[in-house]
Amino acid sequence: MKDIFAQGCLYEETLKRFDEAANILNVNKGIYKILRHPYREVTVYIPVQMDNGEIEVFIGFRVQHSIARGPAKGGIRYSKDVTLDEVRALAAWMTMKCAIVNIPFGGGKGGVICEPSELSRSELEKITRRYTASLIEIWGPEIDVPAPDVNTNEQVMAWIMDTYSMHARHTVTSVVTGKPLNLGGSRGRREATGRGVVIVLEQAAQTYGISIKNSTAVVQGFGNVGSVAAQLLDQIGCKVIAVSDIYGGIYNEKGLDIDDVIKYVKANKKVVGYPKADAIDNKKILELPCDFLIPAAIENQITLENANKIKAKIIVEGANGPTTIEADKILNERGIIVVPDILANAGGVTVSYFEWVQDRQGFFWTEEQVNDALNHIMVSSYQEVLALSKQYKVPLRTASYMLGLQRVLECIETRGIYA
Ligand code: NAD
Repeated sequence: MKDIFAQGCLYEETLKRFDEAANILNVNKGIYKILRHPYREVTVYIPVQMDNGEIEVFIGFRVQHSIARGPAKGGIRYSKDVTLDEVRALAAWMTMKCAIVNIPFGGGKGGVICEPSELSRSELEKITRRYTASLIEIWGPEIDVPAPDVNTNEQVMAWIMDTYSMHARHTVTSVVTGKPLNLGGSRGRREATGRGVVIVLEQAAQTYGISIKNSTAVVQGFGNVGSVAAQLLDQIGCKVIAVSDIYGGIYNEKGLDIDDVIKYVKANKKVVGYPKADAIDNKKILELPCDFLIPAAIENQITLENANKIKAKIIVEGANGPTTIEADKILNERGIIVVPDILANAGGVTVSYFEWVQDRQGFFWTEEQVNDALNHIMVSSYQEVLALSKQYKVPLRTASYMLGLQRVLECIETRGIYA
């Protein structure tokens, strides 16, 4: 049986990436030691009476990796594959992400081991409310602000907000982001991660001399991030030739009509079977010749096994951790540009920050204001990373870690160590 508490390769890989950036920056070793460890990790056991009357106990985690720059911030994932190691790595990436886009948050992440597709709505609600109640002391607008991630959505965020508010005895919308619009959500939040991916993709295309018009893209994962990225790419004249989800992929070399695919998925819950395309294997999709490859599903998709077969010119990581360290080396050697997750998918947390600000002010922005502010942050963050990458002659990933690490370490050093 898998040890869900064991330190595993994902956090170790994260530390290797931290170490590489720290060495180049020649950071204060003592201060850096602090950042190699999470601030705190909590495990909760969640008893739920299932619809059939039986009691099940689910396991949930919340890791606050850093609160040096502000409240911990990061999504909650529901999946049978959740482990503490994965949540720890995801929390550390959030610390980097928030620092790279320079918003006043630390990094956190949560997860519950469960299979949402096998749970009823009422079971999901019970898990969510009990998980929230168990973590209530360590969540809050000033402490730790969760958000959606894989298999959690606006409805789950609404249940979290409601549970927290019932305990607080007043409505606290700013405890969680990614909420429905009528409960303090932000315009543009649902699309923000995919939109951010496309903003940095356009920047990278400019840097490396690829014209978007008539370019081609492949998107793995057709959920929140992947479907929005595909739709926006289609709108700006990039041909999306293949998309996939957990059940399989579809391919049309002339380009897919993404609005039509989205309609199909709404009705059929999967891309497989879409009539105006051929079927393609989920892994094979990654090896298609294209200008832009957007992994937007889960971790560890581009590995030692397939890195040599990737034919894209630029990879823009919509998902967290889709490329392993070994694969990264091969991609670098082959001259394939990788815009890393901690920069490329930071649009989501950026608009989550806007949502938190709006909730705290009780003053809501137009979609145009949100998108303009997002665009400004994504473009300037990309340019900062690119400048570091040129200055130190390192890949964009290393430069992103350098920028994030530098900002967090400066805060830890200035704050000092209490007691
Ligand atoms: P989602 O649950 O909405 O969609 C995930 C998609 O990936 C679904 O289409 C699913 O079928 C597909 N998928 C799952 N396993 C797969 C596999 N083995 N092969 C191919 N497809 C597979 O999730 P999301 O919110 O779109 O998140 C996707 C990724 O983006 C995750 O890595 C997440 O951590 C990251 N991310 C999400 C956000 C956000 O705002 N939602 C922000 C930053 C990063």
